[in-house]
Amino acid sequence: MPKPKATLIIQNAAELLTMASNGKPLAGKAAGNVGTIPNGAMAIAGERIIAVGTTSAVLKAVDATDARIIDATGKTVLPGFVDCHTHLVFAGSREEEVELKAQGVPYLEILKRGGGIHKTVRKTRAATEAQLVQNATRTLQTMLQLGTTTVEAKSGYGLEMKTEMKLLDAATKAAKQSPVDVINTFLGAHAVPQDLTADQYTKAVIDNMIPEAQRRAEYCDVFCEKDVFTVDQSRRILEAGKKAGLKTRIHADQLHQTGGAELAADLKATSADHLIHASSSGIAAMAKNGTVAVLLPATGLSSLLPYANARAFIDAGVPVALGTDFNPNCWCESMPFSIALACRYLKMTPSEAIAAATINSAASLDRADSIGSLELGKQADILVLDAPNHTFLAYQFGVNRIETVVKKGKVVVENETSKMPT
Ligand SMILES: [Zn+2]
Repeated sequence: MPKPKATLIIQNAAELLTMASNGKPLAGKAAGNVGTIPNGAMAIAGERIIAVGTTSAVLKAVDATDARIIDATGKTVLPGFVDCHTHLVFAGSREEEVELKAQGVPYLEILKRGGGIHKTVRKTRAATEAQLVQNATRTLQTMLQLGTTTVEAKSGYGLEMKTEMKLLDAATKAAKQSPVDVINTFLGAHAVPQDLTADQYTKAVIDNMIPEAQRRAEYCDVFCEKDVFTVDQSRRILEAGKKAGLKTRIHADQLHQTGGAELAADLKATSADHLIHASSSGIAAMAKNGTVAVLLPATGLSSLLPYANARAFIDAGVPVALGTDFNPNCWCESMPFSIALACRYLKMTPSEAIAAATINSAASLDRADSIGSLELGKQADILVLDAPNHTFLAYQFGVNRIETVVKKGKVVVENETSKMPT
């Protein structure tokens, strides 16, 4: 039998993290089982992985005649990051709020002064689709350079039909201009617009927007929170989304304990996100129903809020995923920085945090069978980290150690990284 022909080989890695999991998230006692292979290598044919193992085993198994070779001596190879919670598309910025927050001005006061989400909604409604596509494409490029190869993108800065659809269309168009894969989420129920009550707007989301969003998005999401959307309103929106074929994610228990985690479990949501104030019964229900906990430490840093209790989810057997929560209130494109934060404020180990940023994040988007790990047959989304072990991702922050990004078998980023100390 002739050996399979490789188009790309990455070899001699000091460490190769497979995240091998048979299409499932890593949870409970296995949460940090990243599947390290010392002196690791992998071979790719086209868009797919055809061999993973030690360098000698991989080189024996494939025909390397026409392959591009990447030498990863002294470096770490791991799956591309999956950023499973972003508000990718919007217009404008809110840098003035950094100072206000430092002065202790409450968010509600910032809103009253015309800032906060209402400022972003005004700017986004006024922007053309082309401007939004350009903004999102630039953001995707920054994310890609930081190692993110798949991104979830929520709408939610229109709060009316036309702009919400414009946001979803802009995300789809930006994805076509970028190597990054983008998964759309309809989050019309991100806030209540200033001219409607929550009940009136809930009805508009269900009756008017979901029928239009269902062919533009894969997920439906809602900001279930005190004084925003109640558990009952959230349930009605998410059930209407389900009926229209949209899977479920939910902003749950971020600022107050409202029963969001319980609702997510009850609806068998793919993910529940934020979860800072989730109750222990909500966590247990999520474990039982297979809902992934998406934790977002950059939000805590940016908004000076408490952090989620990742250990409670891991101990209960709930798979934990990490995202950036990129949005105009938390302008962070970096999964490595989110990993570094998770290892400090969420008390996750480096292995757990990296699993959370790859295979578990893929699971939170129903894609653990195709991305998020380096296993045979999976899509070749791969990073070469210029560091001798994976712990550097958690250890060093504020610089980019991602040297090479491979997306669907093609090298799409080659970064100049700073030299490691000897
Ligand atoms: Zn969010």
